[in-house]
Amino acid sequence: MTDPRRRVPRTDAVLAALDAEVAELGHDTVKAAIHTAQQQVRDGLLAPERVVDRARAVLRTGPRPVLNATGVVVHTNLGRAPLSAAARAAVQAAAGTTDVEFDLETGLRRRRGLDTLDAVRAAVPDAQDVHVVNNNAAALLLCAIVLAGSRDIVVSRGELVEIGDGFRIPDLLSSTGARLRGVGTTNRTTVRDYAEAVSGDTGFVLKVHPSNFQVTGFTSTPSVAELSGLGVPLVVDIGSGLLGPHPVLPDEPDATSVLRSGASLVTASADKLLGGPQAGLLLGEAKLVDRLRRHPAARAVRVDKLTLAALGATLRGPRPPVVVALEADPSDLLRRAERLAQSLRAQGIDADAVSSVAVVGGGGAPGVELPSAAVSLPETYARPLRVGSTPVVGRIDHGRCLLDLRTITEPDDDLLLDAVLSVD
Ligand SMILES: *Cc1c(COP(=O)(O)O)cnc(C)c1O
Repeated sequence: MTDPRRRVPRTDAVLAALDAEVAELGHDTVKAAIHTAQQQVRDGLLAPERVVDRARAVLRTGPRPVLNATGVVVHTNLGRAPLSAAARAAVQAAAGTTDVEFDLETGLRRRRGLDTLDAVRAAVPDAQDVHVVNNNAAALLLCAIVLAGSRDIVVSRGELVEIGDGFRIPDLLSSTGARLRGVGTTNRTTVRDYAEAVSGDTGFVLKVHPSNFQVTGFTSTPSVAELSGLGVPLVVDIGSGLLGPHPVLPDEPDATSVLRSGASLVTASADKLLGGPQAGLLLGEAKLVDRLRRHPAARAVRVDKLTLAALGATLRGPRPPVVVALEADPSDLLRRAERLAQSLRAQGIDADAVSSVAVVGGGGAPGVELPSAAVSLPETYARPLRVGSTPVVGRIDHGRCLLDLRTITEPDDDLLLDAVLSVD
């Protein structure tokens, strides 16, 4: 009787546990997944009591929603910016056929995503024109292909950076056939270094914001204003996607200030501090934007209607969750942590409210600490919370599992509470 093959759960019993999946995906699909799991039990690869979980795993088709309790506001591994309610609604509405490239008034074709482009222009009046691509890497790629071709991109050696997971901006740029011309040194580069490198064979000068590290001590690098007079286009990759200055992050570059200082083009991600969907923004001189968007390569990096819908709604709608997280008042966070910890203690769980430190993360502002508050649990909670039905990702600190509330929106507090209570 210990042979697991004799204890394969009956299909009907498993189906009953998966009625939500049946309602969503249909009977046949769910049954096929159950059969896969049952076969694994017969083959001795799966414990009989895991059949429901395995069938669910077989049915999973994409990223699952998780609660980000890490205190890292823009967490690349957790999909960066969560969309605002307005952006989610806009995605839902745009999921069918839309006027993405069509003028309903005249019945003629019109520029793709025009309403969204207008929303970006309204947010950054200093940009003469705007183009939106798949992500910031695509924006840089397009600049290299169109503005440099096989000519030089002049860039400081201190800005030849790796963004993460082995993605290096210099490799991306040189993959297009453009020649990278590094100037200056890791810690110091002067306007003169740039001026000496610029020639008739220069496509553009690139300035890259070191968004995930700091170089301190004997350092210097010219300002955007100083680089704008070199007689070639100046492209500035600001990374984070702040459209205007933000009081919480005074040292983070923003599109408006950089354009006012004389940049020809700004490139940025839309899913970092802007708090929108994955996209790359190109803002600046109309003449350059026009060349970028009309080049054949633009087609390969164009955004879809869902992204355009989400981006427009992020810009026009209320503050997205990333901005709410940046601006949260630490005393409010502590009050929420205390309420949660108290409810958990009432159920006999070893929980405390503690102060903590959150960070912006991959989105920029390295070194900036955001005072925060967290629910502190025994470290043994970390894994069960991650694999629960509402996965929660916290952070381990000094043998405790911290659930940082700066990256949880207040309406999700009860969801977080339920997730902790369902750990057994
Ligand atoms: C994040 C980042 C990128 C890459 O942006 P994606 O939108 O992820 O492609 C490029 N440059 C800088 C400075 C960044 O911070």
